[in-house]
Amino acid sequence: MTERRGDHLWRPYTQMKLAAPPLEAVATLGSRITLADGRELIDGIASWWTAVHGYNHPHIREAVGNQLGQMPHVMFGGLTHAPAERLATRLAALLPGELNHVFFTDSGSVAVEVALKMAVQFWLNRGVQGRTRVLAFRGGYHGDTMGAMSACDPVEGMHHRFGAYLPAQVFCELPRMPEQEAALDKALTTHRRELAAVIVEPLVQGAGGMLMHPPETLATVARLCRRHGLPLIADEIFTGFGRTGMMFACEQAGIVPDILCLSKALTGGTMALAATVATTEIFTAFWSDDPAHALMHGPTFMANPLACAAANASLDLFETEPRLAQANAIEKRLTKGLEPLRGAAGVVDVRVLGAIGAVQLGGMPNLAALKSRFVEHGVWVRPFGDVVYLTPALTISDSDLDRLTDVVRLVIGKGMA
Ligand SMILES: *Cc1c(COP(=O)(O)O)cnc(C)c1O
Repeated sequence: MTERRGDHLWRPYTQMKLAAPPLEAVATLGSRITLADGRELIDGIASWWTAVHGYNHPHIREAVGNQLGQMPHVMFGGLTHAPAERLATRLAALLPGELNHVFFTDSGSVAVEVALKMAVQFWLNRGVQGRTRVLAFRGGYHGDTMGAMSACDPVEGMHHRFGAYLPAQVFCELPRMPEQEAALDKALTTHRRELAAVIVEPLVQGAGGMLMHPPETLATVARLCRRHGLPLIADEIFTGFGRTGMMFACEQAGIVPDILCLSKALTGGTMALAATVATTEIFTAFWSDDPAHALMHGPTFMANPLACAAANASLDLFETEPRLAQANAIEKRLTKGLEPLRGAAGVVDVRVLGAIGAVQLGGMPNLAALKSRFVEHGVWVRPFGDVVYLTPALTISDSDLDRLTDVVRLVIGKGMA
């Protein structure tokens, strides 16, 4: 093994022996990433879907700066602080229905772990034993920690690598068709004594390949959960905060889940923060004179004040700047820019919803070659598997967005698939 720059860093989802060295970023601004060699890339990903307001928004910078001077962190056990109180109140007001009880953590995966724990303990606290599994959907992605991973697509989620270590969950297709609805109904009946909850990514299965389903499908999932008396967990970690064109994807189907997970764009792409939000009904199962009925979870950096300040500032921007209108304008522009690829050689599907555009390729592309072609053309686009997608900042300029779709058309049109 020869020493290379960065050898001490173990990189995400990376075969360290084979991967090309990463590019070094030195600065970001708006929808641009500046590299150490001076090149500037137009960002088509918004840093894994987090930077909804673009990078370095002055309002968020100022809020975090002020909080840094005041109190960067304080433990949350036995103490509280205004940034967290304010954020929880605002999230409860924004979310539909009785989603009123906010538990803060520091990453999406942990928010999902907490949701799973809440669902399992919800039953135990009510004296019901044996309900320890969740029903999840094929194509889904819920995170990389063990519990969250157990609810990811069983093939894409690499369950076979971890074998018996992972809890065995129940998997179904999303009920897009009547037969799938019948199969879901049947699975809910068959497993009725062992299921604690159903977990779904509303409208878009993100990391699973930007797979989209109509609001009616989501409404069907919610209806079947009600009928079977099962809590529904909506994982809005990707879809939350305007990505699909409304503040939350659940609103598009008019449903209210029992537990909802948020992270990614919660702080506008600046700090690590996540939230698991429960309805009053779920919360009430933990409200008791019995200390053992408490939710036994509490990350060290829970409700970090800097992150809460960033999230409050991000919510300010949703109030003062036209983010949802921008998401809807991006939808039109993405459609115009990507739709011409429908029917092109090697393209099997083009999907657009809100500020998400995806081009599904027919075969497995040479991902490394594809990624470097995008960089050569001055854009930051990171396909996964056979899907090339754009999830830009909601503030991206028309010209930058057009450049992104132009390059996607150019690179895919050159037969890179
Ligand atoms: C990214 C993501 C997660 C995991 O969040 P992390 O912060 O990476 O742990 C979970 N669910 C969905 C839908 C996601 O997109």
